[in-house]
Amino acid sequence: MFVPSLTDEAGTVLTVSDWVSIDVKLASCDLSDLLLKPGIVVLQQLDSLAAYWDWPGELVLNALFIPNNAQGQCVIRSKYDGKILRFTYDEILLLIQQLNPDYVALPAYLLPLATQAYPDIILKCIDYDLEHANKPGQDALQGLMYASGDEVDYLITDNKYAMDFSVLDKACGCPACSDGYTRAYLNMLDAVNNAQPQSQPLVIESL
Ligand SMILES: [Zn+2]
Repeated sequence: MFVPSLTDEAGTVLTVSDWVSIDVKLASCDLSDLLLKPGIVVLQQLDSLAAYWDWPGELVLNALFIPNNAQGQCVIRSKYDGKILRFTYDEILLLIQQLNPDYVALPAYLLPLATQAYPDIILKCIDYDLEHANKPGQDALQGLMYASGDEVDYLITDNKYAMDFSVLDKACGCPACSDGYTRAYLNMLDAVNNAQPQSQPLVIESL
């Protein structure tokens, strides 16, 4: 079963109404991403995870990718500024309990404490491969298009699609296919993105 992530690179370019329009009823959020943005102070004030997203379906809160250290803390390095954030196991489990998602994916190191002190969370624990569940989003980022019928999956970045004005998949009813976006158009978008110059390092002059 595929479960798109609302918080990864692919998920964050779409809005909740985009997901709903393609009939997604179950999505996941990565807790390590949420702890960076909006951050624990905001998360602790929320009534629920669903309220934060205004999400009408079901949500998996994925804590699988939160590393821990030898001192028994959850440790996350910010991808924005490199700052290290540390949380106690109880802080994380209390937060999960308060966010009240429909399902939870916990790392093995949190299971003993959750079993002992947070039975509500254990009841919601699911055990499946979330990386696999989010594969379509990751494939799309690489330009891999899924085809139906007799066609085979293809890479839209391939030069042979530069002048191919057919839609991605004739049988597909998604907004991209039904609005008539062509293979040539998406091939061009990829080419434009890859042609951009490397960004220059930010230089901050001291005052
Ligand atoms: Zn489509």
